[in-house]
Amino acid sequence: MTYVLTEGHVHDHSGPDDDRRGSVVPRADEELKAGARVGVVAQLFDTELDECELCREIILGFLAEDPATTGVLIHWTCWITSETYGGFPAILLDPEEQDDCSFQATEPLMELAQTYRRTSVHAAEALAVQCAAFTAGQRLEAARSAVQLVVGLRDFGVDFPY
Ligand SMILES: [Zn+2]
Repeated sequence: MTYVLTEGHVHDHSGPDDDRRGSVVPRADEELKAGARVGVVAQLFDTELDECELCREIILGFLAEDPATTGVLIHWTCWITSETYGGFPAILLDPEEQDDCSFQATEPLMELAQTYRRTSVHAAEALAVQCAAFTAGQRLEAARSAVQLVVGLRDFGVDFPY
């Protein structure tokens, strides 16, 4: 596992007796893809579970400069979302659906979600390409929204974010 060093403490829910992650875990096989560091995705997830804003912002800053790993985060997020709802909810694809929700997907995340849906089995590659074409600011927005979404789904399932 590859980690980003943060401020002198760690967030780690990977232990065998720790059920905080639930069945939702970053997929280790993704580690092989195009230089992505899946450990960072897991670390970001654990950090969000602990609601540590300090570490989250440090890791998001790292992801903003790392399109491959951001792509893995987005792919994983889209996959979980799809599995949870049995398809993509409108809230992830249409800004007008988001008005009354506590969770607001950012524009870059919605664009990536549309790509995921359109490209199907080639989504991992397509998302990596799109993340590389994004600005660092767009990757940051996409990643921030994505990790809120996966933690929300982990905690509330289909009741999130309505
Ligand atoms: Zn922390």
